[in-house]
Amino acid sequence: MDENRKRRLQVLGEMVDNHCWDNREEIAASDQCLCTGCGLWLDPTEIVRWHEGKHACCPECGLAGAVVGSKSGIPLDEYRSYMEIE
Ligand SMILES: [Zn+2]
Repeated sequence: MDENRKRRLQVLGEMVDNHCWDNREEIAASDQCLCTGCGLWLDPTEIVRWHEGKHACCPECGLAGAVVGSKSGIPLDEYRSYMEIE
């Protein structure tokens, strides 16, 4: 992975970290969500488990603190494309 790509992934990763916790309202307002743990695209309605009532849990892999909504403004397609390479 070249330096630009690595830096970009780091920036996106930090954005993701800021949006995968305490994100119940943001998930509800999103058109789609991405689990950064398993890479699955999710519909907000598929997220039915909430860690401590406020952190989205992935219905597929069960991870809390890994689901990010499109409403976060993070380019999730781009982030996911990096995930597949690694
Ligand atoms: Zn998952």
